[in-house]
Amino acid sequence: MKLVTRFAPSPTGLLHLGHAFSALTVFHAAREAGGRFLLRIEDIDRTRCKPEFETAIYEDLAWLGLDWESPVRRQSDHFKDYDAALNALREKNLVYRCFKTRKEILDEIARAPHLSADGPEGPAYMGEPLPAEEERALIDAGEPFAWRLSIEAAKKHLGPAYEALSFTEETPEGARTVKAAPEIFGDPVIARKDNGTSYHLASVHDDALQGVTHVIRGEDLSHAAHLHRLLQALLDYPAPAYRHHRLLTDEGGKRLAKRDKAATLQALRDSGVSRDHVLKRLGF
Ligand code: GLU
Repeated sequence: MKLVTRFAPSPTGLLHLGHAFSALTVFHAAREAGGRFLLRIEDIDRTRCKPEFETAIYEDLAWLGLDWESPVRRQSDHFKDYDAALNALREKNLVYRCFKTRKEILDEIARAPHLSADGPEGPAYMGEPLPAEEERALIDAGEPFAWRLSIEAAKKHLGPAYEALSFTEETPEGARTVKAAPEIFGDPVIARKDNGTSYHLASVHDDALQGVTHVIRGEDLSHAAHLHRLLQALLDYPAPAYRHHRLLTDEGGKRLAKRDKAATLQALRDSGVSRDHVLKRLGF
């Protein structure tokens, strides 16, 4: 089977050295395996994503010497696809509407000792659908809602297959099987109030659609694989293998972030730093 992998940045800021390291890691993995390298623009967040950042992604990656297949998939062109995926989950009764605000959820968690305020992405909340009449009234009143995946419903739906869910983590030392524990998220929001989908749903959908065999990304996203494996099982998508690479840090050992302006590829380029210098600094 030919390896297919992707680099999937969100155009919410300029790429920095950490992104370059990730993009190069993914690109070289494809090269070394004689596989395919895809670029995907994850721009479902219509308030934070900006066209100028998308343009900069193409410029920066080309400057690094990467090339990718076209057309590039831009998630904002495909909201209908994510709707359809959500509907597939709705038809199986695996999701419920959640009208609660973040504050209401935190208050509820404070009162319920079995719930946790610190899941991988904030509160690991587990709720349930509202009684039909109450829900109808809120919908009619135009109250915004998110869709949450019910872990309890997913467990019922999959039966023993839920406990058996696992994914393959490939490391330089070899491959290992990791038992998936999606419940660390509580009932995750898989369609947000503002845009009707989520990173999780869109990413899992696209990886399946694009035939991605290897998801290679930073270890800051390693928890996401647990939830993604569950979504794959619920949506009958194939399970890719995962490689979570280390994160690049500065001299002080601190993780590079979008706010470190000096480390953006654009700033480095503008200050006359050469591509070879950057590649060497990143170990390529
Ligand atoms: N769009 C995500 C990010 O910018 C990456 C998602 C992924 O590789 O699955 O962090």
